[in-house]
Amino acid sequence: MISVDAHRETVTGLLGNAPVIRLPLASAAGLVLAEDVLAGVSLPPFDNSAMDGYAVRAEDVAEAPVTLPVADDIPAGRVDIGRLEPGTAHRIMTGAPLPPGADAVVMVEHTDAGVTDVRIFRTAVPGAHIRRLGEDVVEGTVALSAGTVLGPAHLGLAAAVGLAEVPVRRPLKVLVVSTGTELVDAPNPLRHGQIYESNSIMLASAIRALGCEAEVVRSVVDDVDEFRAAIEPRLADVDLLVTSGGVSAGAYEVVKDALTGQGVEFRKVAMQPGGPQGCGRWNGVPVVTLPGNPVSVLVSFEAFLRPALLAAMGHSGVDRQKVRARLTESMTSPAGRRQFRRGFYTHSEGEVTGVVGPRGGPGSHLLASFTQANCLIVLPEDVDSAAKGDEVDVLLL
Ligand code: AMP
Ligand code: MG
Repeated sequence: MISVDAHRETVTGLLGNAPVIRLPLASAAGLVLAEDVLAGVSLPPFDNSAMDGYAVRAEDVAEAPVTLPVADDIPAGRVDIGRLEPGTAHRIMTGAPLPPGADAVVMVEHTDAGVTDVRIFRTAVPGAHIRRLGEDVVEGTVALSAGTVLGPAHLGLAAAVGLAEVPVRRPLKVLVVSTGTELVDAPNPLRHGQIYESNSIMLASAIRALGCEAEVVRSVVDDVDEFRAAIEPRLADVDLLVTSGGVSAGAYEVVKDALTGQGVEFRKVAMQPGGPQGCGRWNGVPVVTLPGNPVSVLVSFEAFLRPALLAAMGHSGVDRQKVRARLTESMTSPAGRRQFRRGFYTHSEGEVTGVVGPRGGPGSHLLASFTQANCLIVLPEDVDSAAKGDEVDVLLL
């Protein structure tokens, strides 16, 4: 048996780094910036008004209330801006360029809102309600650094400094394949001995949630020639093949039978669930083979694929948040294996640790209990039992 950490490292190494491409901002949400990007303009790009009101010279309103002639009108977007002469006011809107000669803005609420003459009721300090050129971002400086995960604020800033595209790590294309002669696609009726196929949607949605692309082949029967014929031609278009099922110790293990000796190695990982794993390259394309039980599939995704895909896409934080929590009931774990159990974690107000209880038994077919879980409880290899009240590691999902 090999360790969970060793297998995770192998899978991560297999994927390497996704290539860098330039994508329009609208396609870059959730992806990782691959290079620093510089601001093409300062923000704000010019001194402008922070308020709807009147641009003035502070000294002209020092004796307020005063009345000044309104010599010009400056809506946002106006580009031909004249000079403010002493003893006059320009009506100005939020975001409009400050006229040269003005050093303050009086908000409209402190005036009578006049159009030809304006009565100004309050004094203004120099600089009042003026947004200065470059006070947010200075042209030519780094606006966003390499490694940033692009969220709404980052994309907004990229747009604001004039970028149409950003260099990002390309979303990896993953081919997800479910194997098993017993598998049926809904809404076809089930015959006794058949089950509905459920792994591919779990894997595809988990993969897509990381910003990768997933293509799915559902229900390849347990026949080596059919498996090869269905999958081999599709490898050229993808960065990774992920299979489920057909890798255990029984007979009819289609994935194992088809890929042994083709560059894929099958091994037992010291974990529960999800022991039988495989990885390698088939026709040069990275392959990760997962066992078939649905809970094993999701746990394997968490343990191996999620960190590997995130790392390949340029993320530096690839681990789930880990917290300590006190068990609400006792648990056992097979000696020598790392056990991942579905659990429900509750943070205890005002305390360092929360509490956690398992959801469902260790059986890797018990998928329903996963829907009630918000974490995985991790019992390490050297632990075979934990009592109620013991502190354990919890990975928050
Ligand atoms: P295997 O690893 O192929 O021996 O499958 C282990 C168990 O998982 C069997 O009970 C399978 O019927 C079940 N299983 C395998 N693949 C799927 C799938 N795609 N959807 C639902 N159950 C599956
Ligand atoms: Mg099978």
